[in-house]
Amino acid sequence: MTQSEAATANHDLAAQLRESRLKPGIRHFIGGQWVDSVSGETFDTHSPVDNAFLVKTARGDAQDIDRAAKAAWDAFQTWREVGGAERRRIMHKIADLIEKRAQEIAVLESMDTGQAIRFMKSAAARGAENFRFYADRAPAAQDGQSLPTTGFINYSIRQPIGPVGVITPWNTPFMLSTWKIAPALAAGCTVVHKPAEWSPVSATLLAEIMDEAGLPKGVHNLVHGFGESAGKTLTEHPLIKAVAFVGETTTGSHIMRQGADTLKRVHFELGGKNPVVVFDDADLDKALDAVVFMIYSLNGERCTSSSRVLIQEGIYDEFTRRIAERAGNIRVGDPLDPETEVGPLVHPRHFEKVMSYFDKAREDGATVAEGGIRVGETGNFVRPTLFTGARNDMRIAQEEIFGPVLTAIPFKDEAEALSIANDVAYGLAGYIWTNDVTRAHRFAHGLEAGMIWVNSENVRHLPTPFGGVKNSGIGRDGGDYSFEFYMETKNIAISLGTHKTAKLGVKKE
Ligand code: NAD
Repeated sequence: MTQSEAATANHDLAAQLRESRLKPGIRHFIGGQWVDSVSGETFDTHSPVDNAFLVKTARGDAQDIDRAAKAAWDAFQTWREVGGAERRRIMHKIADLIEKRAQEIAVLESMDTGQAIRFMKSAAARGAENFRFYADRAPAAQDGQSLPTTGFINYSIRQPIGPVGVITPWNTPFMLSTWKIAPALAAGCTVVHKPAEWSPVSATLLAEIMDEAGLPKGVHNLVHGFGESAGKTLTEHPLIKAVAFVGETTTGSHIMRQGADTLKRVHFELGGKNPVVVFDDADLDKALDAVVFMIYSLNGERCTSSSRVLIQEGIYDEFTRRIAERAGNIRVGDPLDPETEVGPLVHPRHFEKVMSYFDKAREDGATVAEGGIRVGETGNFVRPTLFTGARNDMRIAQEEIFGPVLTAIPFKDEAEALSIANDVAYGLAGYIWTNDVTRAHRFAHGLEAGMIWVNSENVRHLPTPFGGVKNSGIGRDGGDYSFEFYMETKNIAISLGTHKTAKLGVKKE
């Protein structure tokens, strides 16, 4: 199939999906049933391509969350007892169905979020991989340690914490939801999922797939709605024992406050302003590919995007010239066209936010070396943008823009690079480009970030810990780290009958 045939096929599928999936509207999935909101309220979402109406979605509030939390609580009483092998079987079935419907997932995700289809295909595949990875870990999820001591055998076990709330953002909603829901199910938890109000579509597909795979009713529940109502009440509900949240740093603060009365355990994956540091001894061709990929892929709406590039002085002009050239060539357009590299931003409000930084950059004295303008008159398209001549105290270097917008800052030496890299409120990811192995290690140790890649873009290996420091988050996902969040560790101490217990209240002879 040629690229243009593939684009036509995607549009044909999109037209079918509009009729079959979007036209009837989107509902909640609670206790194994597709239901409207108790209030009957709905809200509309719009296509990022032209901001025309896309789908009507049930608008959940406290009553719907309460129904879902109770369903999750009831289902937890049996799901927690289901053996790991059975959980593994069901989760592999979910992965099979995701793979089978990957094209449908990718097209719907592109329609809903504006993300380019070329990346959404791999996001669907990664969703399946997340389920397979945690499926295989389900049988050992409860394993603990043996900690014997004199006169005692101690052993620990892990038990699922209970029903959990999963709250996800709009940037890659399908993949991110699976990243949270898969380990929760493997651990034996039940779930109430509240997806982002700007991108509700793919969550319904995931609910449908899990139901079809035979997940017992009530184990996974889905409630649509706004953060300040449905999201807030989910974080406050007494039957919800933990909240896994991916989104903005300020929302994380709200959630912590909201969950205080019920002492919620929280796991936060928040914003970033991640540095990519390019030393003059690096493989600059490879570094260029990685820098361009890590900021302009996924519309720059990516928590681990390398949104600040710190470049050693001697190579700054030439390297920024090469970035600008690449950025200028990036194909911006129809997200369903496989040729497209950058699609429209998710929502007009987000579009306005990203556009506002073009003025802020100029006001603060930076140079717009490439882009800095919208594309076309309709929809939320912007040109991939590069700011040069920037200082790290400028707003374009300190604030998360979350668009295809890169800020380039020069540095003299390693010490200055480290100081600039760390001089932000965030600390999610960092990227280092150098062929000096000792410097790479030194720099990685000093860099304030939860994840660091040396001579590479973000390449995930699922057993490794994923998460941030500072304002970028609390807790880690990945491998066994996710089970630490979704499970309680219990220690059981058994006396061998040989230890002495102090005797109180014994009559003196
Ligand atoms: P957001 O914080 O506005 O919304 C995220 C979710 O939280 C949505 O479902 C929203 O409805 C809900 N929400 C909002 N207010 C709430 C409240 N008071 N109580 C409970 N829920 C509430 O974030 P966004 O704009 O959708 O997503 C973009 C952000 O997500 C960026 O900052 C990005 O860096 C971050 N992100 C982080 C990671 C990571 O792994 N660290 C991954 C992806 C995205």
